[in-house]
Amino acid sequence: MSALRPHQIKAIQDVRAAYAEGCRAPILCAPTGAGKTFTAAEIIKSAIAKGNRVWFLAHLREILDDTSARLRAAEIPHGFIMAGKPTNMYRDVQVVSVQTAMRRSFSVKPGLIIIDECHLAVANTYKQVLAAAGNPPILGLTGTPCRLDGRGLGEMFDRIIPTCSTADLISDGMLSPIKYFAPSKPELSGIRTRAGDYALEQLQEAVDKASITGDAVQHYRKMCGGRPAVAFCVSISHAEHVAAQFAAAGYRTVSVSGKSTKEERKQALEGLRAGKLDVVCNAQLWVAGVDVPNIECIILLRPTKSLTFYLQAIGRGLRLAPGKTHCTVLDHAGCVFEHGPPQIAREWTLDAKKKRKKKEDVPAIKQCPMCFGVHEPAPVCPLCGHVYQTVERRGPEQVDGELVEMGAIKVGDVVRFNSPMGSMQPWEDGFPWTVTAVHADLVHVNIKREGKPVMTVKISTVDTAASALERLKVKDKKREQAAAKSLSELEAIARQRGYKPGWAKRVMAAREAKRAAASGILR
Ligand SMILES: [Zn+2]
Repeated sequence: MSALRPHQIKAIQDVRAAYAEGCRAPILCAPTGAGKTFTAAEIIKSAIAKGNRVWFLAHLREILDDTSARLRAAEIPHGFIMAGKPTNMYRDVQVVSVQTAMRRSFSVKPGLIIIDECHLAVANTYKQVLAAAGNPPILGLTGTPCRLDGRGLGEMFDRIIPTCSTADLISDGMLSPIKYFAPSKPELSGIRTRAGDYALEQLQEAVDKASITGDAVQHYRKMCGGRPAVAFCVSISHAEHVAAQFAAAGYRTVSVSGKSTKEERKQALEGLRAGKLDVVCNAQLWVAGVDVPNIECIILLRPTKSLTFYLQAIGRGLRLAPGKTHCTVLDHAGCVFEHGPPQIAREWTLDAKKKRKKKEDVPAIKQCPMCFGVHEPAPVCPLCGHVYQTVERRGPEQVDGELVEMGAIKVGDVVRFNSPMGSMQPWEDGFPWTVTAVHADLVHVNIKREGKPVMTVKISTVDTAASALERLKVKDKKREQAAAKSLSELEAIARQRGYKPGWAKRVMAAREAKRAAASGILR
């Protein structure tokens, strides 16, 4: 077993400090890949060294099995309170299933209970188990201390101890870097919310479409063709439809769901691990407890309001593996627009969630129009190198230097483009462009020079100002060239633009030929 990493040592110190300051129920908040069970094992060791009994409590069998394996690796002997496992109450450490424990009473009570996936723990079943165990101090573990139903974890816990973000783990080389693309976004307006998430039947209708799936298949081929992938789908039938479309495109694929047999699930996992399958399409499964490090692509086809689901789904692709350079996320579910990039540090609270999510609650993101890449705001797309154009608005209110997105422009605004490329054309130095019309994704601007309108340009907010600027550059070059009547004027332009000698003469010759041809026709 490897030694503790600095962030894990710090986490253990912070947990100790919390109890010393009178906390009885702190949450250790660490993302997938931070080694939270490993950190917990150290806490367990020191608790039993002080003569305490410790329970490790969770509700999913996969998590309990995984915990048992990790405790074994850390050489911590343990018993089980779990259906189908032999009981050994003499052990200091017990791996405990919530479902099993809520039906029992206990004479030997633990001194500490560690609760994994503790964002689920405000459920009454957990409260029953804690009461039966004599309500000892607890320690919650989770990557996302928030609940879909909006209930605050403060009902049960009294402090959140932050550790590190996924971005920290990526830069420390402990998790795979992410390349995030959102090539399409489903139309979700009008879909009802039930129990905090999108109502499933309506969601199915909105996303189970051959066009959306086809787009996902195409992007998978283009961005990660043949690399091991997991697709997250809405329902069993959706997963089947997605699998069928991947199969039709020549990929080796299966669909798995809560209804698949244990053997089918195992085969899907093994197939992916051994390189015998390209894409596993799954529904309501494979979020926690799936450990296939060579998964290189996560395909999101299930829109969700659950930040936990979103981060856990992507977490399946972040383990390191030989030959793996990064994990590609293909988001066809609009998740990143709902929750922000997966790797960012987030602020958590023990309070209940406000009813309505505010716009500013969603972290800022930028989407590249060239590659559909999604990333934290930056002047250049880190995925393809595309340079964004920003528009400086000098509207009626004359806010100097305020940079706004294209979408915020309105009729009557005077805008100008700031070119980060330096030496473009005259219009970069504050040449006024008056906005004459704004459509959903198009802005018409009227460009004036010395008070006179010279041209109207349509700028797509989708294909960005860059291409509009490019078109303008060509137009203006032609205009400048046409205005140069003499050879010496043309030569001046050639020098300024760095053209080869001879260009000006060729232009003059071409004009001469054109004139001759025209007069020939007239004759
Ligand atoms: Zn890009």
